[in-house]
Amino acid sequence: MNEPPPLAIAGAGPAGLVAATLLARAGRRVVVHEKNATVGARFVGDLQVIEDASDRAENVPAMFARLGIPAPRWVPATNAEFFDAKMRRFEVASREPYAWFVTRGPDEGTLDTTLLEGARRAGAEVLFRSRIEPQAADLVATGPQTPDGLARETAFETDATTRVRVLFDPAVAPGGYAYLFTVGGRGTFGCAVVHDLGGIDRYFGRAKEKLLSVDDVPMESPRDAYSFMNFALAPEARRDGKPAAGEAGAFQDYLFGLGMRYAIASGALAAEALLTGGDFAALARERFGRRQRVSLVNRFLYEAGGAFGLSLFARLAARADFRSVLGAFYRPGSVRLALAPLVAALWRNRGRCAHRLPPHWCRAREREVRAVELGRIG
Ligand SMILES: Cc1cc2nc3c(=O)[nH]c(=O)nc-3n(C[C@H](O)[C@H](O)[C@H](O)COP(=O)(O)OP(=O)(O)OC[C@H]3O[C@@H](n4cnc5c(N)ncnc54)[C@H](O)[C@@H]3O)c2cc1C
Repeated sequence: MNEPPPLAIAGAGPAGLVAATLLARAGRRVVVHEKNATVGARFVGDLQVIEDASDRAENVPAMFARLGIPAPRWVPATNAEFFDAKMRRFEVASREPYAWFVTRGPDEGTLDTTLLEGARRAGAEVLFRSRIEPQAADLVATGPQTPDGLARETAFETDATTRVRVLFDPAVAPGGYAYLFTVGGRGTFGCAVVHDLGGIDRYFGRAKEKLLSVDDVPMESPRDAYSFMNFALAPEARRDGKPAAGEAGAFQDYLFGLGMRYAIASGALAAEALLTGGDFAALARERFGRRQRVSLVNRFLYEAGGAFGLSLFARLAARADFRSVLGAFYRPGSVRLALAPLVAALWRNRGRCAHRLPPHWCRAREREVRAVELGRIG
């Protein structure tokens, strides 16, 4: 009779599903509300990577095992080809995987459906077509809210051999990058930008031309999608007064937008806070705060470096073990930590992000982005 009411989680993305799994396994009643009819509704079977460079102490399979969450079908990434604006090619390699390819979307074997199965097996209830407001939830895991970065992607089937190509060219993907992956019979071509979001189709076309000029790639059953991501600093990890995990809580890798590992880790931490009555914001600050500040500096350097800086990055990446190179970028070193307040101040002063750091450093673009979102993403 004194059983507490079920915990309500808003959003069945990686953050919400991992939190639900851990809470249900600990004996709590959990209901996950998902506004769409399926998990991963904004994705179309596209390939994404879970980065495996930010934590030298624990690789991705070990993290899944420690959390007791089921691993999706994944393929380790140890090689890549980076291209700079002049289409100079740099071969990148690592001894241990620097990332793991997974697919996203509602199909079997994707990260989303695998985590859904895990949550259900643990005893969580997942309700589809069930939108709830953050105020009504115990944990908000509703993903990105304000698009700061926009991507257009084509996911396809292919019999091409493995290719992992990334193009760093600010004229073709301003503030972002373009990529072509063909892995295990699937392929994804994408272009992600963080400036001039309205020009995404133009950038997508140019990037495709450039990346496919290397060689042609057969693309069967192509499916196109637009999607966006948050690059926000919200150290309170709250939305509408409720704890927020994943991109809803502004946990994101500002350097490359690789938010999945953050989503999983912050979802797990949120579950721990709910189970122990701990202060999620304080725990998150302790666990992720330094990394997020460094990440902001990385983004600044990425954007400020222009074509020359990106070419230098590609060159450096090819010179040593890429997992170590990437790991060094993610590590909260003292120089970049010291630069973080300067970067924040600089961006504020230029008017481009003329807002207080929390909750957001680039809401200035919100109106432009909304137009794109309404017109294209629906
Ligand atoms: C094109 C693209 C490529 C990417 N590639 C990579 C990559 O290679 N590697 C990487 O690590 N990251 C990548 N990311 C980022 C990554 O996808 C996200 O960081 C990650 O999915 C965030 O997980 P999440 O659980 O916070 O949110 P989401 O995965 O967005 O899940 C949130 C869920 O909440 C639901 N929802 C929203 N509002 C409500 C509501 N009010 N009520 C109920 N449900 C609601 C949504 O429908 C959604 O299902 C990419 C993103 C994009 C757009």
